[in-house]
Amino acid sequence: MTPAKTSASRTKKPAAKKPSPSRTDDSTLDLVMRLMAVPGRSGEESQVAALIQDELRRAGADMSQVRTDDTPKRSPLGGEIGNLTFQLPGTAKAPRRLLVAHMDAVPLCVGSRPVRKGKLVQSADKSTGLAADNRAGCAAILSAALAILKHKLPHPPLTFLWCVQEEVGLFGARHGDLSLLGKPKLAFNWDGGPAEKLTIGATGAFRMKINVEGLASHAGGAPEKGISAVTIAALAIADLQNAGWLGLIEKDGIRGTSNVGVVTGGAATNVVTDYLELRAECRAHDAKFRKRILDAFRAAFEKAAASVTNHEGVAGKIKFESRQDYESFALRSDEPCVVEAERAVRAVGLNPVRAISNGGLDANWLSARGIPTVTLGCGQQNVHTTSERLDIPAFEYACRIALKLTAPDADA
Ligand SMILES: [Zn+2]
Repeated sequence: MTPAKTSASRTKKPAAKKPSPSRTDDSTLDLVMRLMAVPGRSGEESQVAALIQDELRRAGADMSQVRTDDTPKRSPLGGEIGNLTFQLPGTAKAPRRLLVAHMDAVPLCVGSRPVRKGKLVQSADKSTGLAADNRAGCAAILSAALAILKHKLPHPPLTFLWCVQEEVGLFGARHGDLSLLGKPKLAFNWDGGPAEKLTIGATGAFRMKINVEGLASHAGGAPEKGISAVTIAALAIADLQNAGWLGLIEKDGIRGTSNVGVVTGGAATNVVTDYLELRAECRAHDAKFRKRILDAFRAAFEKAAASVTNHEGVAGKIKFESRQDYESFALRSDEPCVVEAERAVRAVGLNPVRAISNGGLDANWLSARGIPTVTLGCGQQNVHTTSERLDIPAFEYACRIALKLTAPDADA
């Protein structure tokens, strides 16, 4: 084939330069820098919402279309504010599009002081995270809304949704008031790294709380009268580890994960510990397999509790509570939101990459509640750590992709 090409080479036009992401002006970078500096851990997002509302007001938004819902009434965490929504009627008849990003950041990000370093942004305070997760997503969808308002761009019916409490259990997406969204047909969520990465499915997860009850006694004077909750927990965890139910789990070709993350209890070395509380989680794409992991945990703790007895033959007890954090989902490849997202990624000169996540996303609950949602990256790196960074070019691509998805004819 080459020769044919060669012939063309004489008149070969110089290779099309990869379009640089900097079609966005500096205001988007300024916007995300200001958003990342605002404290807003889960349940305390009101300052973030206030900044977003302020920007919309100054851009001329109809503030009667900017509302917060009553998620705190239904969330186990409560919270100072609900999800923030902004609805725009379309300038053309078309299926409504929903753009989503969560406002909360993990506690490590409170006190973030964003500074630019070349193509990256990081926190000047080395003891904090940056809050790129997920102020970058908040800024990407806000920048699209502001561009439409400022430049009066033609657009389909649009809803912008800034969720609360994503980091603690996806509570905004799970308990949010869907009636404020205006029945969207296509939904796009921003959260994650590379702008061209499309997350079209994610795992499902259970959260467990295990209370181990033993019997206190003097550890020196009468240990045989006690029932050690610590021993029970240790036996159960060892049993799970030996049976391959901890960490990365692979059985019959199916994969999952589990972790015992928090253990609290015990007050003194000279007392046989009578109570421990453990918090654990398990994840798997396969719902049946996820249930199997859960059952293995319950069985291991029940067996261990029954095996630890005192001198009177009294055994320990456990109280096992579990709650589904989110259901797994997998979007079809011809799902309209996936097709549109890929079109927008290509339109800005990138190649879409499909991915499945092993973590929970607001998209899990939105999809489970009937709004198929694809998730796109927005430049986050090393999230939930003190070395969190924002990749500026990836963020700027995310802003352009968001604009392409809200104003398809705009030169994004
Ligand atoms: Zn996030």
